[in-house]
Amino acid sequence: MARECDAHRLWRDRVGERGAVAPVASSAGPFAGSIDAGYLLVNMSGGRPTLLLNSSYEPLKAISWQRAITMVWLEKVEIVRSYQTRLHAVSWAVDMPAVVRLRHFVKRHRMRIAFSRRNVFLRDGHRCQYCLVTFSANELTCDHVVPRSRGGKSGWDNMVTACGPCNRKKGNRTPEQARMTLAKPPRRPEMLPSLAARLGGRLAPEAWRDFLTWK
Ligand SMILES: [Zn+2]
Repeated sequence: MARECDAHRLWRDRVGERGAVAPVASSAGPFAGSIDAGYLLVNMSGGRPTLLLNSSYEPLKAISWQRAITMVWLEKVEIVRSYQTRLHAVSWAVDMPAVVRLRHFVKRHRMRIAFSRRNVFLRDGHRCQYCLVTFSANELTCDHVVPRSRGGKSGWDNMVTACGPCNRKKGNRTPEQARMTLAKPPRRPEMLPSLAARLGGRLAPEAWRDFLTWK
């Protein structure tokens, strides 16, 4: 870790946390060979985030591009996609990383996905689990498959996304009693839907798209 801290300090001294123009000493980094003026010119252009992938290409999180560069410097990651923004230094130049991939697999504890109405909708892809039509969140309801009045619990295994008409039609009955078919039995999702939503939303940079397909 000490090495990483040193690299962070090195990077901060050169670029500043927010990116800036700073004089740098000549040194050979991993991008040696590209000579520029004696200043490190960084075009922040909104300070675009970098998507960090596990070595298996599983998306892990969004990090700052400064952190991504530090990790490249430490040879912890490789750049998979870049933005069209060139970072220049005395002895190296590199495109601002858009997607980086860890060289070594990081085993991580699966985050327990919070049970919420929003996450039920995300798990079900905003599709009514009875009529299979996709709706916006404000047109959807959460249906207790086994009604509460019959002992049905509020949880991943008993809650599904349903449109208003299907929910009303089903009423206080089980799907069997209402003669309605569920798309699939409800289960706790393995993937974190809120992470998928956060990373895969409309604001996700184009360069991330290939890596954000969620099953
Ligand atoms: Zn429906």
